Amino acid sequence: MIQVFTTLKEILHARSSRDSSASIGFVPTMGNLHQGHLRLLQEGLKHHEQIFLSIFVNPKQFGPQEDFLKYPRTLEEDLNKISTLLSLPDYQGKDVFIFAPKDVEEIFPPGFSSSISVGEITKKFCGKSRPGHFDGVTTVVYQLFSLISPHTAYFGQKDFQQVLVIKKMIQDLSLPVQIKMIPTVRQENGLALSSRNQYLNTSEQEKALVLFHTLKYIADLIGKESWQKAKEKVQEFISQTLQDSAWEYLEVCQQKDLSPPADNTHQLVILGAFRLGKTRLIDNILIN
Ligand code: AMP
Repeated sequence: MIQVFTTLKEILHARSSRDSSASIGFVPTMGNLHQGHLRLLQEGLKHHEQIFLSIFVNPKQFGPQEDFLKYPRTLEEDLNKISTLLSLPDYQGKDVFIFAPKDVEEIFPPGFSSSISVGEITKKFCGKSRPGHFDGVTTVVYQLFSLISPHTAYFGQKDFQQVLVIKKMIQDLSLPVQIKMIPTVRQENGLALSSRNQYLNTSEQEKALVLFHTLKYIADLIGKESWQKAKEKVQEFISQTLQDSAWEYLEVCQQKDLSPPADNTHQLVILGAFRLGKTRLIDNILIN
């Protein structure tokens, strides 16, 4: 069964009247759900008695020139997708509580003036090209954690830097929430699912594959040898690739904090951001 809350009052009432022994999972989203979001929800449904999913296009994480106004808002279709999922034998009898604030003021009431800013890790990669983006993310996620009080929150590896930023916020502020990162769900051709893929026309969809193919090529180079042996080749390949101005960044870093890898680093992540017209796509591959 699905229950939808659209106001702050309703969600606070649901929090205060729920069974305090129930384990609560939470999936924050901006809606326009696809199989990537649904994987997070499925994982949550497996592990918790109650699962909350929020649908909120958060203005604070969009820059002034970004796509906040045109971001796809498809609540009815989203609810249908969740109902369809709940009709599968694995999930029958399960409840999903949706928090879909009817307007921005339900989350950020007039006069709201607080902000959570995590520091260092928010300044590079996506944070560099989208100033203030991660402050917007952490502020809304902190607010949603306060309203829902989940035990575990589910995030996608697709936004790997975001996962690190949220984990750092939780650590710094001693929040009682566990984070689970779910692997990226892709189309058969490798393109990571994203709500922004629908901005792409057919030829851009083809070109978008460059992002995954490039990350994969680098992953194969490192996988065959080790970072220490592959690094010169990889760095040469990356600097050639970056000559194409469609690339915003492409880099190999340490998984733990996105710092440059040392020769003996085993847990690496290859991160890339690629622009196609006005659409900006990000992706990453982990190497363990
Ligand atoms: P969004 O609605 O784009 O803010 O995404 C909500 C959550 O879904 C975030 O934790 C994303 O990382 C995650 N997500 C988005 N796309 C994918 C994907 N292709 N595979 C797995 N998780 C995803």
